[in-house]
Amino acid sequence: MLIFAAKFDLLYWAIAMAAGTQSRKHSKTKSARLRAVARAELPTRYGRFTIYGFQGRGPQEEAVALVRGNLRGKGAPLVRVHSQCLTGDVLTSLRCDCRAQLELSLQKIGRAPSGILLYLPQEGRGIGLMNKLRAYELQDGGMDTVEANESLGFAADARDYDFSAKILKQLGATRIRLLSNNPEKVRQLERAGIRVVERVPCQPRISKISRAYMQTKKAKMGHLLDV
Ligand SMILES: [Zn+2]
Repeated sequence: MLIFAAKFDLLYWAIAMAAGTQSRKHSKTKSARLRAVARAELPTRYGRFTIYGFQGRGPQEEAVALVRGNLRGKGAPLVRVHSQCLTGDVLTSLRCDCRAQLELSLQKIGRAPSGILLYLPQEGRGIGLMNKLRAYELQDGGMDTVEANESLGFAADARDYDFSAKILKQLGATRIRLLSNNPEKVRQLERAGIRVVERVPCQPRISKISRAYMQTKKAKMGHLLDV
């Protein structure tokens, strides 16, 4: 979050300064709950995307979307809704499969006619970075990921996909093919008005280190994984 947020805040600040009058005007409308604060080109290792910055009400309601192709075309865009994982995505941790899923998603979306990668600040399945590190400490003492979260007083998965659904709607992607192994994500998006016409498995090769973690996700959280 820190690295990501620093860059994003700077960008947001620059855009907000440039478009100050417009933001204030928009803040009175219904769309004030979700604003696209920036749009820019983003060439990546996996192809060229357009990056959007979205802001909702609180600090948790902030996300970026990497978009390619025509989202309102005939075919449903390929979508990944990815929750930030600093240790995995940035620091290359092998405790989880987040970075591998992120890279696989960018690769698949980069090859699809149209798609979106939504990147959300829901660190540690929604419990925040510091609590996630506390949970890691408990796991080093023998707990699994679900037991650790629960012993800290959190749900096994505290994420919420309503904000994601709002962004998808604003981008015009109301029918999607979702890259995910998580049936709960499909359910929540559908409840929020997004039609998931296909769930595309997102399972990279599993490292020896993350195997136990993946087995817990399958057994206790119902993720559809081949482990
Ligand atoms: Zn992770």
